[in-house]
Amino acid sequence: MTRRRRIYEGKAKVLFEGPEPGTLVQYFKDDASAFNNQKKGVITGKGVLNNRISEYLMSRLSEIGVPTHFVRRLNMREQLVREVEIIPIELVVRNVAAGSLSQRFGIPEGTPLPRSIIEYYYKSDELHDPMVSEEHITAFGWAAPQDLDDMVALSLRVNDYLSGLFLGIGLKLVDFKLEFGRLWENEEMRIVLADEISPDNCRLWDVKTNEKLDKDRFRQDLGRVEEAYQEVARRLGILPEGGPSDVKGPKTLQ
Ligand code: UDP
Repeated sequence: MTRRRRIYEGKAKVLFEGPEPGTLVQYFKDDASAFNNQKKGVITGKGVLNNRISEYLMSRLSEIGVPTHFVRRLNMREQLVREVEIIPIELVVRNVAAGSLSQRFGIPEGTPLPRSIIEYYYKSDELHDPMVSEEHITAFGWAAPQDLDDMVALSLRVNDYLSGLFLGIGLKLVDFKLEFGRLWENEEMRIVLADEISPDNCRLWDVKTNEKLDKDRFRQDLGRVEEAYQEVARRLGILPEGGPSDVKGPKTLQ
């Protein structure tokens, strides 16, 4: 097999040219980063688990009519996705106070919010992903008002659906980050969900104990990071066959 063209390498994923025009292969790494790349590490098996978890969640969302870039999982660490034009906005949905919201407004972590809150961040490593308003987004042309309306409507549907799905397996969906892209089909443009949905970009707490089962275990040096990702996959019923030893996945990239 010839080496594929690498399109983009991010902190947790690599994008390769796909087998057909308009497709990409998304490769999930074990690399983890936090605090704008100041903290770096490896969470063994994370790539394999996030590939599975994101496949599962994107597939369920697609079934309820949420358009996504996901096509199918190819192997332990790779999935085929549609090539989209990524909108440079991270959309964060929050149900319970945590992380930067708790810090910014002095609200104790774990306080339920009176209603779900959506925030926008401009994707820029140099600027440390600053929080922005709708005004910035439309005035600077990052997204049109209609694009933004679509992104908000989809995010609220994703939040309702995933909150229920996680509650069913004893997890509280505290907050999460979504990214969207523009998909062009016969001169028509649709906004679709892109990137991934996994414990890397969701806060998930055990309903009974409030134990954190997400990337905060890495951010805050809480230990048992690998186990937390495995536990989420296990509760979703998608731990790779063969158990945790199967989770390391292929080491070499062809
Ligand atoms: N998040 C993310 N990528 C980022 C920033 C945040 O996936 O670059 C996710 C994070 O995992 C959490 C939610 O968005 O689920 C809200 O994060 P917050 O603003 O509290 O920032 P943090 O404290 O995680 O840096």
